[in-house]
Amino acid sequence: MVASVLGFMIIAGIVYTARSRENNYNGEYTESDKLFLRMAILMADESVDHDNEPFAAIIVKDGEILATTTSTISQDNDPTAHAEINAIHQACKELGTCDLSGCVLYASCEPCQMCMLACESANIERVFYGSSRSDASKFDPCHRNMPAIQLLRDEARHTFSYWEEKSNIKE
Ligand SMILES: [Zn+2]
Repeated sequence: MVASVLGFMIIAGIVYTARSRENNYNGEYTESDKLFLRMAILMADESVDHDNEPFAAIIVKDGEILATTTSTISQDNDPTAHAEINAIHQACKELGTCDLSGCVLYASCEPCQMCMLACESANIERVFYGSSRSDASKFDPCHRNMPAIQLLRDEARHTFSYWEEKSNIKE
């Protein structure tokens, strides 16, 4: 996978360099945005070649690729191992921070709610995606009717005051 992605990057880089001189920026996206998204789509195809799920994501900051990941739900027996979550993990590790301000995420498919929330939590600046959730709806294993019930709120809220107290002591 790495070899073919690298090959694609070299070819796409040549195309990008040539086209960027023609100023294709239209205020919403640049040629490099399309380049990175095409890479994610290619990686999703390659994920299928390796019998994994058809999803991939890339995180870029200032033109530098920080993470290239695919979905590894089956491979890792982890229902949260979506390509975007894996990319956030990889980029945070790469930068040594949980703050991905200034980063752009490119996903082969529109991120699910979990991944969008993860992007917001990580301060991802923008998300570009290829196919839409409706394109992938028949592959979505999530069920939407799971009950979520609040219990023991006062007991649980204690943890926040405990954390605040400890933080004040440290200061
Ligand atoms: Zn997701």
